[in-house]
Amino acid sequence: MAERKKADYVVVGSGAGGGTITHELTKRGRKVLVLERGPDIRWVGNHAFAIAVLDKHGFLTSKEGMGVARALCTGGSSVVTCGTSSRPPKGVFEKHGIDLTPYLEEGEKQLGVTTLPDDVIGEGVLALLEAGNRLGMNWVKLQKFIDPAKCEPRFCNCMLGCAKGAKWTSRVLLDEAASMGAEVLPNVKVEEVIVQQGEATGVRAWRKGRGELVVEADRVILAAGGMGTPVILQKSGLYEAGTGFFCDPLAFTIGYHPRLKAGFAPPMTVGTFDFWDSDGFLLSPVVDPWISLALEALKAKPSRILYWPQYPRTMGIMTKAKDELAGRISIDETFSKQLTHRDQSVLDKGGSIARKVLIEAGCDPTTIWTTKARGAHPGGTVRIGEMLDTDLQTEIKGLYVCDASVIPDSLAAPVVLTLVALAKRLADHLEPTGASAGNQGHKEKTLR
Ligand SMILES: Cc1cc2nc3c(=O)[nH]c(=O)nc-3n(C[C@H](O)[C@H](O)[C@H](O)COP(=O)(O)OP(=O)(O)OC[C@H]3O[C@@H](n4cnc5c(N)ncnc54)[C@H](O)[C@@H]3O)c2cc1C
Repeated sequence: MAERKKADYVVVGSGAGGGTITHELTKRGRKVLVLERGPDIRWVGNHAFAIAVLDKHGFLTSKEGMGVARALCTGGSSVVTCGTSSRPPKGVFEKHGIDLTPYLEEGEKQLGVTTLPDDVIGEGVLALLEAGNRLGMNWVKLQKFIDPAKCEPRFCNCMLGCAKGAKWTSRVLLDEAASMGAEVLPNVKVEEVIVQQGEATGVRAWRKGRGELVVEADRVILAAGGMGTPVILQKSGLYEAGTGFFCDPLAFTIGYHPRLKAGFAPPMTVGTFDFWDSDGFLLSPVVDPWISLALEALKAKPSRILYWPQYPRTMGIMTKAKDELAGRISIDETFSKQLTHRDQSVLDKGGSIARKVLIEAGCDPTTIWTTKARGAHPGGTVRIGEMLDTDLQTEIKGLYVCDASVIPDSLAAPVVLTLVALAKRLADHLEPTGASAGNQGHKEKTLR
């Protein structure tokens, strides 16, 4: 016999989208149940954590061999971000009549968005910023959701999780929501949405070690991420989901400096948006965590591994590109994605400018190489204006999506703040009376 549960809202997935909508609806007095496929591992901040939570232990690849990273755990990929914040490019939402401005402002306050002081950024990365500016570009400090007072960048890397609790993750919101009455169940994989007479009435899931779980809810919110949500939708009969997607492909151009240290500096603390509108890429210093860098070096050219012992003096500049909506997520969770000629030429242009900046900063030109491209922001698989209305509702009444799937076009930029804003806007739509009133208690028993 299946285990059964009831809630006002069932939220599937606990990343930036799922965590924020859970927090907002719980604050408004609703009974929210969160089902998260991954475990709730709290020993963050090391390679073992990253290997445990990254899908396929960090080796998730498309049928064509392109790597894409996503974390499957409470907090989703928000746990492994670089902690960088950015508003979406102008026009992406405006052309659908959506103004996110007030929600972005609220999100920035909630995430404590700020720039980091020079001593946290480090001399190596500041040398890259100065080099970029000497070459006539506008390099600036980037916005971070990292508390500078707690950040101790010695031998850590934000992408392995932050052991100091300096970086915002959606776990902050999940924990707060749980203290207000939300229930968060890890290790529960949702298979499909239950639909009766065209209306979503709950979900059917599989609970690790326990068996089938059926949840009855007034509304269902899918927040299983750009790769998880389209699979659930296809299993629920919406077969167009997952057709075409972006992943903001990125490549690191790496060099070695004779003196300055940037290997252990926090990633993406500075950068330039100069080429964002004209060419569709962002440049920002990032170096892979040391084990990943060894693997990337081996993949690119085995002799590159000889530089690995010089990790502390490694300098890296990431080109993050806007890619075309191509490829497909399949119902069996495999996916097809490869760079188009246009995507590759955008990355190549970014790589050649990154190389000039590294040389200007003093890196030995003979040591410079570029990693293979991979993606870290899967999204655009259930796009607003195609499969969703502007309130993020699907054609099935009561079934909403609140994650990177909904973003209509590649951002080539950090995604988290946009998802926080979208979730806040969705909460205002679903529970308008609670928006300004905060915790009102659960007054209505049913929503329909
Ligand atoms: C290494 C790395 C660095 C990044 N750095 C930044 C950065 O600095 N700034 C930034 O803004 N963004 C960054 N990003 C991107 C950002 O983390 C993601 O785009 C964003 O967190 C996606 O949020 P989401 O809510 O769409 O989905 P996710 O975070 O993917 O959350 C989805 C959740 O749903 C769960 N799930 C999936 N399927 C099911 C199912 N069937 N049943 C139940 N649960 C399910 C997953 O386990 C996961 O926890 C980075 C990403 C990576 C990988």
